[in-house]
Amino acid sequence: MIDLHSHTHFSDGDLSPADLISRASERGLEYLAITDHDSIAAFQTIRADNISDANTEQRTDNQHLPSSLLKLPQLSGGLISGVEMSCQWEGLEIHVLGLFVDIDNAALNSLLDQQQERRRQRAAAIDLKLQRNGITGLATYLDTLPCNAISRSHIADFLVDNGHSKNKQHAFNKWIGRKGKAYVAADWCEFAEAIETVHASGGITSLAHPDRYPLSRPRFRRMVADYCEAGGDAMEVSYSNLNPGSLGHLAELCQKHQLWATAGSDFHSPSHHWMDLGKIRMMPAACRDRAIWHHPVWQQHIGKLPALVTASDAISDA
Ligand code: AMP
Ligand code: MN
Ligand code: MN
Ligand code: MN
Repeated sequence: MIDLHSHTHFSDGDLSPADLISRASERGLEYLAITDHDSIAAFQTIRADNISDANTEQRTDNQHLPSSLLKLPQLSGGLISGVEMSCQWEGLEIHVLGLFVDIDNAALNSLLDQQQERRRQRAAAIDLKLQRNGITGLATYLDTLPCNAISRSHIADFLVDNGHSKNKQHAFNKWIGRKGKAYVAADWCEFAEAIETVHASGGITSLAHPDRYPLSRPRFRRMVADYCEAGGDAMEVSYSNLNPGSLGHLAELCQKHQLWATAGSDFHSPSHHWMDLGKIRMMPAACRDRAIWHHPVWQQHIGKLPALVTASDAISDA
């Protein structure tokens, strides 16, 4: 089984990289990609921890592997380096995954530094708006977190923990969502910059959770066309809360644009049991030939298909 979309506490996930990998192991995952929002710090930590343990065989293995696939004792396949980049498109925030990125690539690190700085600036601007509404203490709260990519999810936690909102959904609706009183738009990179940078680092891109954007059908098709025009490689067609009614349309767009197809849960927290690691819909039959494990970059790093594709029930007819 594979899962190509997950978060650690370096962005808005609840788990440390070590705990995430343990959970992936318990759930029987063969390959896992960590795709934190605008951060690859998880891989730097894992690699540092792994290399510092001179007694493991993996130390020797990893020294000879590219830094985009880490062999770990807990995963029978390996850990794929990834990132989820926030992009702007016609005033909307669209998420683009990078997979198999070289975590040492200078252009990638530079763009992620910029994105993290945009996140810090946005959080400061939100803090000011909250203060004008009598809500103080956000900056102090954010300082206590392990993340290096501050997200609105953290700010929603702050609002809930301090009794300003009854739950996260309410915090987004009233305060930090697009129509919220403390909403601040961020100046994210464009598709082209994100995609070129992922390519420069040896990786491939996938358009994240395509049916979660507030777009009409014609505008959605235009967004996907622009993503392809900018050089996008793949699209997620299999994820935890994908609306089954959208599958046919996504499969059709994959075929139309010759996009590759990826699958990932978008795991953030054990408390979100409906999007737990490995909980993904089956890859639609129409995308079978374009599944990401047939892509040359997958073959270059991994050289074989994941065990998932040999399972008789791995492909959905949806
Ligand atoms: P950001 O990337 O900083 O804009 O934060 C967006 C993150 O907040 C997403 O990746 C989700 O994990 C989370 N999020 C977005 N909308 C909601 C919502 N309505 N309720 C709870 N979490 C949300
Ligand atoms: Mn998130
Ligand atoms: Mn996302
Ligand atoms: Mn995500």
